[in-house]
Formats: sequence, C-alpha cells, structure tokens
Amino acid sequence: MTPALELLDVTKTYAGNPETTALRELTLRVDPGELVAVVGPSGSGKSTLLQIAGTLERPTTGAVHIAGADTRRLSDASLAGFRAQHLGFVFQQFFLLPHRDVLANIAHALLYRPMTVRSRRAAAAAACERVGLGHRRHHLPGQLSGGECQRVAIARALVGSPTLILADEPTGNLDSVTGGQILALLRELNSAGTTLVVITHDHSVAADAGRQVELRDGVLRRDTGRPERGSGSGVNRVAPSRSTR
Ligand code: ADP
Ligand code: MG
Repeated sequence: MTPALELLDVTKTYAGNPETTALRELTLRVDPGELVAVVGPSGSGKSTLLQIAGTLERPTTGAVHIAGADTRRLSDASLAGFRAQHLGFVFQQFFLLPHRDVLANIAHALLYRPMTVRSRRAAAAAACERVGLGHRRHHLPGQLSGGECQRVAIARALVGSPTLILADEPTGNLDSVTGGQILALLRELNSAGTTLVVITHDHSVAADAGRQVELRDGVLRRDTGRPERGSGSGVNRVAPSRSTR
C-alpha cells in the first residue's frame, strides 16, 4: 500500500539568532485510512510538522512524500496545484471568506480542478450535507456559530476527496461540547475512509484517535502505531534520535 504521507528524516531549522530547530530527523509514515493524533506540549513542533506535511513549508533536510510523490521534485509553482489535489487543511482559525456563502466557501477548494461551475457547486452541496450544514448553505460565515464555521472548513477540506486531511488544533477555538461534536465528525469521516492527521495539545482528544504520535522538542517520542496492527499494548517507544544522545 502506498503511504498517504511519509516524512523521511525531516529536520526543520528556522533562521534567526539563535536559530530554532523545530523538528529533528523525524520519520513518520501514515497509511491510507489512518486517523493519527499528534500530541505534545506547546513549542514541541506540532504545527511545523503540519506545515511540512502539508507542503506549506519545505524541510531543511529530509524528504516528504505524499501519495508516493516526492515533493522535492515539485516546484513552488506546481505545489499549489498538488496541494489542491492531495491535501485538505483545517485550522484553529477557520479562515473562511467572510463575504462568500457557505457553498461558495466550500466550492473554493475546487478552483484548481478542471470542473464546471455547476459541478463544483454540486460537489460543495454534497460536502455541506456531509457535515450537517445543508440548512445553512446560503449563510455567510458571520451568521454561523464557531462550530458551524469549523464544519464549513471541514467540508472545504474534504470536498476534493484529498489523499490526506491535516487539522491543527481544530477544536482550539471551540467550547468543549462543540469541540466534541467536531471530533465526532472527524472520526465519522475517518470511518468512511478519510485519512486524517489531527494535531492537538489535548490528551483527552488524542485518546479517541486510533493512533497517537507524541513530539517533544521536535523529536518523535512515542508512536502507538495502528491499533489493529499491534498485539499487546501496541505502544512502541521510539528511541531518541542521534542528535539527542
Ligand atoms: P507547536 O505547534 O507544537 O506549539 P511549533 O511547530 O509552532 O510548535 O514551534 C516549534 C518551535 O519552532 C518553537 O520553538 C517555535 O518558536 C519555533 N517556530 C515555529 N515557527 C517558526 C518560524 N516561522 N520562525 C521561527 N521559529 C519558529
Ligand atoms: Mg501549534
């Protein structure tokens, strides 16, 4: 099976004085159909991992493969189209277009696709239904609750059937009840086949995911692996990388 995502020995160093190494020699494979929670304290490199997995940033060293494609071979210009085809993003801040209605916000994710306006609208309407917002399709973001805004963002992420959806603290701006509903929606999408990597600093959120990956100071410290794969506890301690020994 071709992995949805492979990070191979990824190091990310941000320039500055002093420079910051946010990820160190990180290797991670996510297979199609997985739901992976990435946990770790603030500053441990979670968002950097998402930016690099999402090809929004390039690693300093190492490789990122998505659906078998080595993204080092893609120019910055061709990456935009590649991302539109393979990746969906959900952020803590919903990043909706304020003057466009729900359907237009969702359809926006299909702009790079060779589709007619009509078929984009039809796909957006179906995604809108999937997240339970069919009755809000002509509302503007300002007329929606936070949880509804995040549902729109999730519909926008999934409408193009991407290889992988990456979510960075998707419940970070929501109360716990609404956050729980958003997580239930993400689990439901995963059960229907969507591959998801969800970043959270909340361990109770992560406990629900099939697989947990823990970062500390940019190093992969723990990876529970896929639940159905392991026997026993299923927890693999990850040896410290060379740089930390
Ligand atoms: P987390 O999401 O786990 O809180 P981040 O990936 O945001 O962690 O940050 C990891 C480290 O990298 C932190 O020390 C942070 O200050 C640093 N960092 C993140 N982004 C940048 C950037 N654009 N420039 C410089 N340093 C950064
Ligand atoms: Mg972060």
